[in-house]
Amino acid sequence: MPSLLNIRFHSERMEDFFTSTSFVYALKILVVAIIYFFTSKMGLSFYALSGFVTLIWPPTGVALAVLLLYGVELWPGIALGTFAANFLISGSIPIAMGIAFGNTIESIVGVYVLRRFINFDYSLEHLRDSLGFIFVALSLPIISATMGILTLLAAGVLTSDMVGPAWITWWIGDVLGTLTVTPFLVCWLARPFFWKSMSVRALSEWVLLFSVLIALNVMVFLTPYTQIGPFSTIYLIVIPFMWAAIRTGPPGITLSVFITSVISSWAAFLGHGTFSQPEVLTRVLSTEAFLAFITLIFLPFTSVVAEEKNVATILRHNIKRLHEALQKISSEDNAKNEFLAILAHELRNPLAPVTTSLELLNIKIGELNRPDILKIVGTAESHMRTIARLLDDLLDISRISRKKFKIQKETVELQSIIHHARETVEAFYASRTIELVVSVPKELLWISADAVRVEQILNNILYNAAKYTQAGGHVKLSVTHDKEHQEVVIVIKDDGIGIAPDMLKKIFEPFVQQNNSSGSRVSAGLGIGLALTKRLVELHGGSIHAQSAGLGQGSEFTVTLPAPNDIQLQMEFPLKERRRANRTPYFTFIPSTIKEQGPLVLVVDDNKDAADGLKMLLDHSGYKTSVAYTGKEACETARALKPKIAILDIGLPDMSGYEVARTMREELGDVVILVALTGYGQNKDKMEAKKAGFNHHMTKPISINDLKSILVEAGE
Ligand code: ADP
Repeated sequence: MPSLLNIRFHSERMEDFFTSTSFVYALKILVVAIIYFFTSKMGLSFYALSGFVTLIWPPTGVALAVLLLYGVELWPGIALGTFAANFLISGSIPIAMGIAFGNTIESIVGVYVLRRFINFDYSLEHLRDSLGFIFVALSLPIISATMGILTLLAAGVLTSDMVGPAWITWWIGDVLGTLTVTPFLVCWLARPFFWKSMSVRALSEWVLLFSVLIALNVMVFLTPYTQIGPFSTIYLIVIPFMWAAIRTGPPGITLSVFITSVISSWAAFLGHGTFSQPEVLTRVLSTEAFLAFITLIFLPFTSVVAEEKNVATILRHNIKRLHEALQKISSEDNAKNEFLAILAHELRNPLAPVTTSLELLNIKIGELNRPDILKIVGTAESHMRTIARLLDDLLDISRISRKKFKIQKETVELQSIIHHARETVEAFYASRTIELVVSVPKELLWISADAVRVEQILNNILYNAAKYTQAGGHVKLSVTHDKEHQEVVIVIKDDGIGIAPDMLKKIFEPFVQQNNSSGSRVSAGLGIGLALTKRLVELHGGSIHAQSAGLGQGSEFTVTLPAPNDIQLQMEFPLKERRRANRTPYFTFIPSTIKEQGPLVLVVDDNKDAADGLKMLLDHSGYKTSVAYTGKEACETARALKPKIAILDIGLPDMSGYEVARTMREELGDVVILVALTGYGQNKDKMEAKKAGFNHHMTKPISINDLKSILVEAGE
């Protein structure tokens, strides 16, 4: 009697057996064999020549699809199915074996060729796949047709005179079976649920398309409506095929081919529709020719369309990614520019007390008559000037990059700008014993430009020319007026260290500097001067380029600015005013004439050093000065002392300088002269200052010289 343990053991063994790979494999083979067997019976039922050779042979297509999709190791299923089907017909084991052998080999070779040489993709979305598949579908049946016919001949079923037509019929049947069935099965079974991700609109289009296709198939093949006047309605079938190829891709076209082959074959069997000739053979051959025609045309066509669509999708995707990357770069670039602007601005604040202190030192030393210390202060001043200039360049370039920079064009006279530029660099040239020769035309040259910025352009190039020229060298600035092209050409030529040919274009990019022969960098700059210069020139609608015969051969910079012949002359020449407002001179010397005990000045700045320094300077210059470090304090002092001038920092801790200005204007009326002091000298700041009641707007750091005209105005 089996014990409980035995029963459990037994059932576990059974379970193991059913889940074992060999059982699953055997099951798969059986399923394939059954499918093959029934498809063969279906194929044979259409029309059989000598019982074996049929004009439509779908099993070949099924066999190829099954081995492609589920593995070539399932070949015994094909062999078994073919053997069973043919044995049932012939009753002969050798015949069934011969035919089974041919059919099985055919499928195995087909899979091998498609995978190995065509790298076949089930999606059929490449021309390579559909053309490769067509090649396999046309050539493979040679194997089974030859094997099958030889077997039948050997068995005496076929006589030798029947061999030719029988071989052709076999071949056509297999070709058609493969062309119509395999693509459909492969495409649909590889992605059976692809339609689930489709939109309702796309699904509706599919329903409409296949309704039209089926309706036309029925009309053409199953009804007598095969002609419209002299035209055959069969041509209409091309419409849904074209539609399917363009809109639904390989899944749609393979389904269309499959549906059409089923309906047309059935019609050929019944003798209905377009191909309703009395001869069965003629009917079937006509149907097959039609099926072959649409498959051979539309399969590759669909692949081409799908390939194009895929390329377009990839392209769109890449463009999107590129766009995103560009956006990222630009936002990072913006952040960098923002950072540079803040940095430059913040560094200008501590520069203010340093400027004032140096001015004070200058005065004190002048009083002490100590030329040795004066020289030391002179060096400090010169470095201060460089730092301030670099900060200004940095601020300008970041503003240009953030598109927050505007130039203010007006009709200006070039010679006087050149004169100012020359004055600015004079001391630097003298300190390096470099000679500067300026050659300008005699007649006045009027250009439409921002005078301050043009001077900045010239200063940058002139400074560079001196920086990169050995002591005792020469720099020449010459100007010509090209009336024909309506432009002025400014050439600045030096006999300095020169520029290597590969650097000529690069030096206009930000932060690019040339190495000298010893490999180290020559300049004390940041490498932004020329980048800024170029942008300033371009903002004027001009151009700049550099020339050099090579290292050690000197350099030549050519700036071209538009100079329209019909320029409107403005008699007023506001350069001096503008220079002070836009780009404060970084360091100036104490004015020689200062009013004794001038009007009361109130200095308001939360930077104690800056406020105190300016107070000391003003005190020393003979002005009664008071300081306040907060807005509230400023208002109170103003109320009590009623100053004639109030110099207000805008960024105060408790209230903004604008609010303080409004309060003072309200309480003291028009008599008080209000001067705004900010880090940024943009138009927006100036407008806001004007609105708040300020009379003047100045950019930090300021010197007593900058205040001179205001002090004079207040004293009058
Ligand atoms: P910086 O002078 O701060 O390095 P610039 O943008 O003004 O930056 O100049 C970029 C580079 O171009 C310099 O570092 C230098 O190598 C080269 N350069 C500019 N002007 C001259 C010149 N006149 N002669 C030789 N090299 C020059």
